[in-house]
Amino acid sequence: MVSDERDSFSRGDRGAGIRLSGEFHLKLAEAAKNAPLISFQRSLVSQTSLIIAQYESGNRSHCSYDEHTQLIDAIEARDAALAVNLMMHHMDHIDSKLNLDEESASDDLHAVFSHLMLPKKKPGRSTAV
Ligand SMILES: [Zn+2]
Repeated sequence: MVSDERDSFSRGDRGAGIRLSGEFHLKLAEAAKNAPLISFQRSLVSQTSLIIAQYESGNRSHCSYDEHTQLIDAIEARDAALAVNLMMHHMDHIDSKLNLDEESASDDLHAVFSHLMLPKKKPGRSTAV
């Protein structure tokens, strides 16, 4: 998923990249098997994806996939303190890349939601924990 995210941004498909970045954060919540967190995360990701699509400056990734990779490594190593630390830094970076002051709205909202126009495919049940 993180490599798909990187590929999307590198081929300039910003809509798909934003969507995959959000999905990464949802997967983290699902992996924690914490139902309230999952539903909170779902609404947070959909709202922040809109804000990011509209206000992020430049054609860069708001979520650095390098940071996503580091997060996965910390979680795999069961280093909770490091994982929390990395996530806090990650959120700071996302915040700092947003440009909320200017009229910099982009037209990427359509790109973010364009997948919804495709025929619906039933998501397979993930067996991964
Ligand atoms: Zn992220």
